[in-house]
Amino acid sequence: MKSKVLIVYTGGTIGMTPTPNGYAPKSGYFKTALDAITDLHSAQLPLWDMIEMDPLLDSSNMTVEEWNKIGQTIADHYDDYDGFVVLHGTDTMAYTASALSFMLENLAKPVVLTGSQIPLCELRSDGRENLITSLMIAGEHRVREVCLYFGNRLFRGNRATKDSSDGLSAFHSPNYQHLASVGIDVKYNESAFLPIQEGAFHLQLLKPIPIGVLKVFPGIQFDLFENIMTEKLRGIVIEGFGAGNIPGDGDALLPIIEKAFRNGTILTVCSQCLKGSVSLGAYETSSVLKKAGAVSGYDMTTEAAVAKLYYLFSREDDASVIKEKMEMNLRGELTIRGGSAAS
Ligand code: ASP
Repeated sequence: MKSKVLIVYTGGTIGMTPTPNGYAPKSGYFKTALDAITDLHSAQLPLWDMIEMDPLLDSSNMTVEEWNKIGQTIADHYDDYDGFVVLHGTDTMAYTASALSFMLENLAKPVVLTGSQIPLCELRSDGRENLITSLMIAGEHRVREVCLYFGNRLFRGNRATKDSSDGLSAFHSPNYQHLASVGIDVKYNESAFLPIQEGAFHLQLLKPIPIGVLKVFPGIQFDLFENIMTEKLRGIVIEGFGAGNIPGDGDALLPIIEKAFRNGTILTVCSQCLKGSVSLGAYETSSVLKKAGAVSGYDMTTEAAVAKLYYLFSREDDASVIKEKMEMNLRGELTIRGGSAAS
């Protein structure tokens, strides 16, 4: 029997048309555009249906509410389809992919996020290939996790990051292997897949927890951040230099983050370097963070760390459990040195 895939169309460049204010999505247009591509009904592709989200969004406008809507749509149709393709703007696709990877617990079907840099209505659009290959991957049922397909490569969703605003290979996965490379054939890298999840599929909806991201820079005046780093901010991702270092001896920052931590704020340290891992305490300039109770984000992307904070705060009440789980590998989103990347 032919497999069936549900396309969840959320907006993004792929379905945009020109307006006097620049490209924007237009409701009702995309289905007609897809119907005009006869190859999408080829016998080599799975059967597919499409659900259009309302409103369609430029992905810069995505919030936890939209992540919940996408997750709910997949959960509502989970038993009816073999796989799912989420059409999404590229700007925040890696955030949504990360969020879904946590929200869709015990996922046993492919969920592939894709989109394009050039709208489908344009002659040189990359959307046609991205969509066709994503449909094939979602229909093949080989990889059973949240992935992101773009520019001939299939990434683990929570390892991907957008690294080009105008290239057609707009994403990469600096700290994890590709799940598949696409040339004449789709070459799966099965040893990189997440192990099959046991247990019943479950959707964990997210709460709009107040979260912050602080990127340190030379000359940062930490005292100016004191008013922001209150107990109102439940989670903070600190993007440190290199292996998770912050400027100076941390004298100014230490009391602020200690206070935030005492108030239940979880501080997670990621790196401004895309490749490599945080190693808290390796340098004097990061030991202050460790002393203050910050947790290591290891080699997680900032996108994955943000999504994981939303997920854990939506699921757990106990700050010490959240802190512990931030440092654990839940969906293949981080590599603990000497530990497994994919379990
Ligand atoms: N601004 C667009 C979006 O993220 C960019 C894109 O789709 O490539 O929705």
